Amino acid sequence: MLIDTHAHLDDARFDGDRDAMIARAREAGVDTFVTIGCDLATSRAAVELADRYPFVYAAVGVHPHEVKHIGDDWYDDLQRLAKHPKVVAYGEIGLDYHYNYSPPKLQRDRFREQIGVARDLRLPIVIHTREAQDDTIAILKEEKAAEVGGVFHCFSGDTWLAKDALDLEFFLSFSGVITFQNATMLRDIVKTVPMDRILVETDSPYLTPAPHRGKRNEPAYVRLVAERIAAIQGMTSDKVAELTSHNAHRVFRIP
Ligand SMILES: [Zn+2]
Ligand SMILES: [Zn+2]
Repeated sequence: MLIDTHAHLDDARFDGDRDAMIARAREAGVDTFVTIGCDLATSRAAVELADRYPFVYAAVGVHPHEVKHIGDDWYDDLQRLAKHPKVVAYGEIGLDYHYNYSPPKLQRDRFREQIGVARDLRLPIVIHTREAQDDTIAILKEEKAAEVGGVFHCFSGDTWLAKDALDLEFFLSFSGVITFQNATMLRDIVKTVPMDRILVETDSPYLTPAPHRGKRNEPAYVRLVAERIAAIQGMTSDKVAELTSHNAHRVFRIP
């Protein structure tokens, strides 16, 4: 059985067929999902989905793209949402200097604050980082994020980021990006990560793996990610499913 550790099941692109999309994933062997918030509204939606489906868990938090919208009451509301028994992580949070939809200085301040919120809540964090490796690692260290641990989601950094993340005892979650033709360097990194620190995810509806690129992504395709890791690591995809599911249960403390 597989766990899709990072999906946006509330996304409007699933409004027309959400139940069918989830059923397809379950048929493909995905028995557990973690749906991720990016702002207050989507965090609320994530918790509602966790309420509706017994096999869906939620993460709440504010994505670096969205931190410029954080209002006075957001942290109170997020903390209240996080008390829900099926909220298993705080995120996605982090830094994204590729788009800089929020100013970089503000991203750093809000990242620090949100690590603090996660530590108060004693929840592991889900990290989004893009073109911001050094600042991400420095902030994680300064804010003592290792006390709660968590996941580098959709890992796409270099060897050094992988090493730093592993040294901080974080997990690395791989997505459909590892199936992309030009992702040779990333596949080389997968080879070096111990199997007890790897997770799989789709980031649905984004980052559709080959051979479905160009179409909407959905959790059923997490199998393609597991199959590619199996090929890289030289093991069966059943074994990858077993190990990554075990890891997901550990980091998110899913019963
Ligand atoms: Zn992300
Ligand atoms: Zn995401």
